Parts: sequence; structure tokens; C-alpha cells
Amino acid sequence: MSKNNRPNLVKNQELVGDVIDLTYEGLGVVKIDDFPIFVSDSLPGEKISFAITRVLNSYAFARVLKRLTTSPDRVISEHADMIASGIAPLVNLAYPAQLAFKREQVRQLFHKAGLDQVEVLPTIGMANPTHYRNKTVVPIKFQQGRLTTGFYRRGSHKLVPINDYYLNDPKIDAAVGIARDVLNRFGVSAYDEITREGLLRYLMVRRGYVTGQMMLAIVATGKKLPQEKAVVAAIKKTLPDLTSLILNYNPKQTNVQLGLDNRVLYGSPVIHDTLLGLDFEIGVNSFYQVNPQTTAVLYQKAAEMADLAGDELAIDAYSGIGTIGLYISSQVKKVIGVEVVAPAVADAKKNMQANHIQNAEYIAADAPEQFVKWAQAGIRPDVVFVDPPRKGLSPELIEAVGQMQPKKFVYVSCNPATLVRDVVLLRQQGYQVAKPVQPIDQFPQTMHVECVLLMTRV
Ligand code: SAH
Repeated sequence: MSKNNRPNLVKNQELVGDVIDLTYEGLGVVKIDDFPIFVSDSLPGEKISFAITRVLNSYAFARVLKRLTTSPDRVISEHADMIASGIAPLVNLAYPAQLAFKREQVRQLFHKAGLDQVEVLPTIGMANPTHYRNKTVVPIKFQQGRLTTGFYRRGSHKLVPINDYYLNDPKIDAAVGIARDVLNRFGVSAYDEITREGLLRYLMVRRGYVTGQMMLAIVATGKKLPQEKAVVAAIKKTLPDLTSLILNYNPKQTNVQLGLDNRVLYGSPVIHDTLLGLDFEIGVNSFYQVNPQTTAVLYQKAAEMADLAGDELAIDAYSGIGTIGLYISSQVKKVIGVEVVAPAVADAKKNMQANHIQNAEYIAADAPEQFVKWAQAGIRPDVVFVDPPRKGLSPELIEAVGQMQPKKFVYVSCNPATLVRDVVLLRQQGYQVAKPVQPIDQFPQTMHVECVLLMTRV
């Protein structure tokens, strides 16, 4: 063994070991002399023989050669390709075990932060944990003589064709296929990352779970399609359910999939969906939760945690199109929302009107900056709801919360690691976790877990 405790592993070396854990990416963990080896499609409790594929300084990767014992939680899925794609890395783990695993993950994060006293409830799951997504963004490429939609295998630029994404509303997958075939028939070119030529980059489809309204956005490097009229007519004919057809212009060489420049090719610039009895308008660039069934539970839990009395000033931070704030508006005196994407704020304002809500106000701003301003202006909310992206809250926002001193702080989180990090900082501002944390399975078959947590002033 070398000095840094690294066993002498080499590529293609074959070994046998026990899988003792599962990483956040859904890889099984085997340890050889304490050195971690990550193995795709292996589950805790399984004994496997495996071959090393890559050795790095502090860990290695391997692939399974043979399972010598099988976990009782393993299910044999027809969708095993979903592991390689990274779309559904937990597809081979029985659903109850997925829920238990997610709860345990949250528990361990609190434990590692020295917060053992924080109780974590069993994860709330779905009755039918597949085909739940109301939105997809699919890459499109010219391959083997035709336009292809599918997924990139990890670390590869080759698209593996796929028709059933397993997690999407089947009508969404069907629309992707139909639109791709029409575009193929008209010979529309696909963007090539190497030559930087060609037009089509992604197809985005979003469908209202209750309303069935469907939006298709064609993401392209140009502002116009060739034979545009005929293409639009053909899409309209083959997808008669389409409410909105958009050409989204994105010439940038970044990982950001959609640009901000949209042109309506047909129908409405937005779609509507209904959630918890409210009507929501959703634009192309607006965030809207991808699992409408569990989102209803999530918002109800958030409101329940806050135990609202009716006379509160509430802040809805990272408000998207205003969903959380508008949902709780009937249970408080006033809501002020803040969101950085201006078109989403425009949607929130329209959603207020459409639902005849008068006691809400939405501001387009960076949430941390707005919190600092509010704190300086002496704003004193009674309850603050935050629902930040994966990177969590910033220390500035947390300090501003310490100054504004809301009695209740409800944290809706899509990343337990940043949730726990922020809880530690909020404790330094005089807050404590007041009720057990509630994990909710917003993203079945994936490693992601959503949590709702309440903190109150000590
Ligand atoms: N509460 C909403 C949206 C949650 S997603 C819902 O449940 O649908 C997180 C939102 O935070 C996104 O709409 C994103 O645009 C927004 N966001 C990201 N960074 C932000 C920032 N610095 N300030 C304000 N909003 C931000």
C-alpha cells in the first residue's frame, strides 16, 4: 500500500467486495483497505465481483462483473438503461427502500453536523412513482442519418436514442417523438457542438397535470426555422393538443439549456395548470415544480408547519411564479414575494389577478439583496418561507433574517446538504428546529430529496 493509504489498484483489475453504502449519485460503495470504490448498479448488502475502470487519488470507479449475492431491495427493472443515463439512478432499488434511504440520508447529514436531536420523519412517497414529471428538456442531435432524441451516456457525446423516459408524463414523451419526426421530415439541421453549425439544440415540453395544456419549445441557435410556416402547420396537425409552440433562441455555448428570447410560433405564449384549487400561468422560462402530485403535499406541509393564524405578514422568497405565497395568501394578512427571474415575477402578478388575490405583492430581485434591504428598512415579517435552488441560502440572507426576527422560518429545500449547512447558521441567529423535518419524494427513482423544516426563535 502507498503512503496515502491507497491500495495498488490498476485498471481492469478484478476484485470481490461487499457494497456498504450508496452515494448521492446512486453508486454503490465498496471499500478495499478503507479506500472507496464506486460501482454503478450495485446496492448496499450485495457481494459483488467487479473490475476497476478508473483510479484517482482518493477513490476509484469500477463496474460489476457478477453479483454474488443480491439485495432483497433489488428490483429487476426493464428500465435498467435509466441508470447509465443518470435519469433514474435508483430504478433498481425497491420503492420503499428508496424512501427509507432518503430519510436516512437526511438523518445522517444532521448527525454529521452534530444535530442529532433533530428528528426526521419517514419520507412521504407517491402511490405511482413513475411517469410523474410535467416537464422535460431533451437534447436533439443528427445521428445515423436522422434527428435523434435521447440521453448522453455519462462522459460521452453520443446520444443514446430513447422514447420512454420512464419519469415523464407519457404524453410528453409522445410529443417529443412527434415533433422530432416532423423536424426530421423537413430536414431541419441539428446543432453540432464541434463544428458549431446547425440549428436545433433541445426540445422542451411542459404539460399541465390538471388542464392537459401543452407547451413545446424548440430551442435553436437561430431566430427562424427553415420553411417555418410548413413546419408549424405540420406540428399543429400531428399534435392537435398543443396549446403553445415557441421558438426559443439560445446561441450561447453554455450548459444553460434555454435562452430568454422567445417567439410564439403558434397558440399562446403560456400554459395554465391548476394546483390546490388555484390557477397558475406558466411561461417558458418560469420555474414550476416538476412533480405536480407531490408538490400539492409539499405546499400543504409547508403551510401546516407554519400553523398560520391569519394576521401575519409573510415573505415568500424564491417565489417562482408565486405558488407558495398565493397558496398561503388566504391564511395570512399579507404576502410579499421575491424572485430573481423577471418573467416569473410577471407570471406571479398575473396569477394573483387570475385568482382574485389582493393581499400579495411580488418583487423581481435577488433574494439576499432584498432581505438586506428589508432588514435595513425595518420590515418585520412574522413568517418567512424560503424555497431556494440547490445551492441553498447565502450568509447575507441568513444574517438579514437574524435582524428581521420573524417568529417562524419555513425552509423548503431540494438539497439536504445545503439545508443542514444553513440550519447551523440559522441557529447562530437565534433559531432552532421546532418540529421534525419532513422529507417528501418529489423525484422518485432519483437521488434527490425534498424537505420541509420549521425553525422558530429560541
Ligand atoms: N417556490 C417556487 C420556486 C422554487 S425554485 C415553487 O415552488 O415553484 C427556486 C426559485 O428561485 C426559482 O424560481 C429561481 O428562479 C429562483 N432564484 C434563484 N436564485 C435566486 C436569487 N438569487 N434570488 C431570488 N430568486 C432566485
